[in-house]
Amino acid sequence: MSIKLDGKQVSYEIQERLTKTISESLLSIKRPPSLAVIRVGDDPASGVYVANKERACAKVGINSLIHHLKENVSNQKVEQLIYQLNADNDVDGILLQLPLPKELNAQKLISQINPLKDVDGLHETNIGKLIKCEPGLRSCTPAGIINLLNSKNIKIEGKNVVVVGRSLLVGKPISHMMLNLNGTVTIAHSKTKNLKDICLKADILVVAAGKPKFIDSSFVKEGAVIIDVGIHRLKSSNNNVTQLCGDVIMEDVISKVFAYTPVPGGVGPMTVTMLLVNTIASWQKRCGLISTLDDLLP
Ligand code: NAP
Repeated sequence: MSIKLDGKQVSYEIQERLTKTISESLLSIKRPPSLAVIRVGDDPASGVYVANKERACAKVGINSLIHHLKENVSNQKVEQLIYQLNADNDVDGILLQLPLPKELNAQKLISQINPLKDVDGLHETNIGKLIKCEPGLRSCTPAGIINLLNSKNIKIEGKNVVVVGRSLLVGKPISHMMLNLNGTVTIAHSKTKNLKDICLKADILVVAAGKPKFIDSSFVKEGAVIIDVGIHRLKSSNNNVTQLCGDVIMEDVISKVFAYTPVPGGVGPMTVTMLLVNTIASWQKRCGLISTLDDLLP
């Protein structure tokens, strides 16, 4: 039987640890960790993600402050808010909720965040540290994937890893994390030829293509580990029911694999949990404590 990499369960266990970490660190730090979230516009999906983050912060003892800006806000106004949050000693983490309205330049705005407060791990300084294999804040979804594999003691060293997707958010950072952990990594993208042949060589296949039900069992080697990063809301034919699915047709693949991530309940919950980990690690560091969470930041 294949092993389910249960993101809900692993998140729960890590969050228990985080609650304890905060209460222990509060013996020497006199204020709780705090996360500032910048949300622009009224995209309903972003609203749900921000509410989830707020709830998760409250659960472990992080103060969260939501700055909800109007859809037509200028780059300059968002930058001003970022500078203000950078300068605020009581703010440990700054998160710019993506996607932003098209008129705003997300990468330029992320670059303005103090790298020590970049709890999404997307600032070029933190991406550089990842590539150089130096400690730093790590992007949340990829770091969550590594912790899911660790939870079942699945080793990366010496494995053939194939990552489908090369985005800055997922594909590139997970590829570097796998490489740093001594995997042999192939990155595939929309211009890759013979994708199926490449995927069939994977001991660990990470799919982050953003294409619903894209990968079936014909892409997957017997005994592989498959990580489905994709998350899509599909409407039924009568438009009444919304169904969540990933990039992988998991029901087709499951009997063939050693381990898999479900959608929902696999990678998704880990992303939020890693945001909490980054925020607490940043808080400890900024307040002069040694981070006790480095083992969770690959
Ligand atoms: P993205 O920015 O759209 O990137 C998709 C990547 O897939 C691109 O690099 C693209 O190649 C590649 N691709 C597209 N079609 C392909 C094909 N036919 N063959 C091979 N590669 C192909 O998406 P993303 O931000 O990385 O996210 C990927 C998925 O993960 C989405 O469904 C997203 O919703 C989900 N996601 C989930 C979480 C979570 O917490 N669960 C977090 C983040 C993202 P090119 O570079 O050549 O265009």
